[in-house]
Amino acid sequence: MKQVFGVMGDPIEHSLSPAMHNAAFRELGMDCEYHAFRVRQKNLREAILGAQAMGFGGLNITVPHKKKALEFTNPDTLARRIGAVNTISFNEGIRGHNTDGLGAEMALWEAGVGIKSSNVLLIGAGGAARAIAFHFAEKGACVTITNRTPEKAEALAEDVGCRHAGLENLKGLLQDSDILINATSMGMHPHIDATIASRDIMHPDLAVFDIVYNPLQTKLLHQAELAGAKPIGGVAMLVHQGAEAFRIWTGQEPPVEVMRKAVLEGLD
Ligand code: NAP
Repeated sequence: MKQVFGVMGDPIEHSLSPAMHNAAFRELGMDCEYHAFRVRQKNLREAILGAQAMGFGGLNITVPHKKKALEFTNPDTLARRIGAVNTISFNEGIRGHNTDGLGAEMALWEAGVGIKSSNVLLIGAGGAARAIAFHFAEKGACVTITNRTPEKAEALAEDVGCRHAGLENLKGLLQDSDILINATSMGMHPHIDATIASRDIMHPDLAVFDIVYNPLQTKLLHQAELAGAKPIGGVAMLVHQGAEAFRIWTGQEPPVEVMRKAVLEGLD
């Protein structure tokens, strides 16, 4: 019998996860199907329990439920520390995972950028920044967090046990950085003319990773290119967080390039 997987969020109609995972299942000849489910916050617990009861193979959890879902799962250590779940497996009860940070690490890795002992300037203190900060700190990166609302950067840095700094000295912070990560929604469609940093404060040895993937070529990435820095787009993170969820659910090596192609077609 076909095994069902899904993503729960609200709204959910623009999710690229069904296309990405269904392409992977097709490629590997697996009798599985992945669907998007719009679930209201008040129904999240019942929806997760229902998925388990109906024998789902696994779930992704997306905005705005990642934090809430923690309450209804037995989270692994990283998801517990992050305080949010983006993947649920049903192999041993209802297990919560968070693959966003690994997705970001893999996006850098495939661009030839290692994070261990690197100075990482992370801009943002929302959900995505939180997952990246915990994962990167655990993997030995020297993370500094900065954010439009400085109190949030300070609170996140305290939770993670890393440094925080004010955005007003971005130029100085970038001089000491190997990797800049934009984990804010700045530059995201429809505000495509916005950028968190411009070319004049970047240096050629900098890797500039924008986790925004719509548009594919953000203004920040364009500025990085002009500065001779290394631009890395957000699609790779989306694909690799999904690939890791696939590994957790199925124990199989995911066809990453097939998944990437499906995402890129979905963004076209
Ligand atoms: P979130 O929890 O709502 O956090 C938003 C962050 O962006 C906050 O730090 C916020 O600062 C900052 N921000 C928003 N507008 C800003 C502006 N005009 N100027 C400066 N800072 C601004 O959102 P999230 O879930 O972390 O997602 C953030 C972005 O990452 C979104 O674009 C999302 O699509 C993308 N994302 C990509 C992936 C991927 O796989 N590539 C995964 C997850 C998320 P304040 O604290 O001051 O409000």
